[in-house]
Amino acid sequence: MFKKVLIANRGEIAVRIIRACREIGLPTVAIYSQADSNSLHVRLATEAYCIGPAQSSKSYLSIPAIISAALVSGADAIHPGYGFMSERADFAEVCERQGIKFIGPTADSMRKMGDKATARKTMIENNVPVTPGTGIIKSAEEVKDFASKVKYPVILKATAGGGGKGMRICRNDEDVEVNLSLCQTEAQNFFGNPDVYCEKYLENPRHIEVQILGDQYGNVVHLGERDCSIQRRHQKLIEEAPSPAIDEKTRKEMGAAAVRAAKAINYEGAGTCEFLLDNDGSWYFMEMNTRIQVEHCVTEMISNVDLVREQILVAAGEKLDFKQEDIVLRGHAIECRINAENPEKDFMPNPGQITGYVTPGGFGVRVDSHVYQDYKIPPYYDSMIGKLVCWGRTRNEARRRMYRALKEYVVTGIETTIPFHQDIIEDPVFISGNFNTGFIDEYYKRKELKQNDDLH
Ligand code: ADP
Repeated sequence: MFKKVLIANRGEIAVRIIRACREIGLPTVAIYSQADSNSLHVRLATEAYCIGPAQSSKSYLSIPAIISAALVSGADAIHPGYGFMSERADFAEVCERQGIKFIGPTADSMRKMGDKATARKTMIENNVPVTPGTGIIKSAEEVKDFASKVKYPVILKATAGGGGKGMRICRNDEDVEVNLSLCQTEAQNFFGNPDVYCEKYLENPRHIEVQILGDQYGNVVHLGERDCSIQRRHQKLIEEAPSPAIDEKTRKEMGAAAVRAAKAINYEGAGTCEFLLDNDGSWYFMEMNTRIQVEHCVTEMISNVDLVREQILVAAGEKLDFKQEDIVLRGHAIECRINAENPEKDFMPNPGQITGYVTPGGFGVRVDSHVYQDYKIPPYYDSMIGKLVCWGRTRNEARRRMYRALKEYVVTGIETTIPFHQDIIEDPVFISGNFNTGFIDEYYKRKELKQNDDLH
């Protein structure tokens, strides 16, 4: 086992990783920026080092700063969490050269899945269905040619993209002219790589993703799927497991496709294959995230597997101690992302001081968060302040528990997405389970119609 684990992240995921380390009995090293000295992960870790200013590029994204902290503290492993360094193959390589274990897949597997265009190629070679698409786009003509074959709409995507950024839908030739250069510029600005490719845009599919775990000996299992169709601007808001939309047969097929993909790239650690499920039941691979994901907790709640603990054990060279047939999924879990945003003002980020904070509890309720009363949310990072996850024997039981827990959750001093979630959880379409990625837009349209009706 490792001697000491450095957590190259902040916020709730840093806290989550420290908790797993503590349970294994591993000392931890927190790193933090000058804006994060009051963050919970700094207090919970065995040691903590300030590695730079608020600006991520000079702290959480600075390879020299992170590696120095690891060398000074004597950490022999680094857990990257999600975001920041988690999908940077170059960082994994630097760690390796310094004799530090990167807790995640090898740089080589990351490269094979890291960019969306290469990932699609890997998948095609392994008989996993992908949406019809192109290679790297060089001109608007190429996109138009492609669209004339598959018919509009199509979507332009940054190969290095993530977090719902760097994507543009085109519904006709004029859109292509406008969007291509915008998308390329956005790709360069956000991800430091202007490459863009194009794929057929499915109208309102469901987003279904499969969690996998692999060890260093070629064993790979999947832990079922998550449904992440409740999104706003391609960003996930609510996730659940299992998906209300797929049956046992599809679950098995998708799971097998994800395992095949992981085996093809000698994947080790936790990873996620994302798929789109079309209205006619066909499904396509979209991308693989080679890291732990925000929504991993819903899988943990129905599978009883601590995914972060498994990541660490596998990275330390242990064999997975369960097989596919040992994984039993029980009940249903739902996660609401609690963001410091104002839903009334177009989800505008709302950092500031939390004046009051009371978390819900009770049977089947889990809160993963790094905030507390009097904590000041810095304006520099992600607006997520926590995740509320509820389990139930059935979807409806999980949903009702979520409603109850959201009602108990008190955050004052800032606006949050809690009231918004309360409304969604009680929404008849959400209750029916019959929705897709168009849900939020439709939800607002329905609300507007109702308001107009009420006025007349
Ligand atoms: P990111 O890496 O930014 O999360 P993804 O490729 O995972 O980007 O896509 C995020 C979301 O964008 C999907 O869940 C889906 O809602 C939408 N999307 C992406 N590609 C398509 C497509 N070809 N057709 C329809 N929707 C898509």
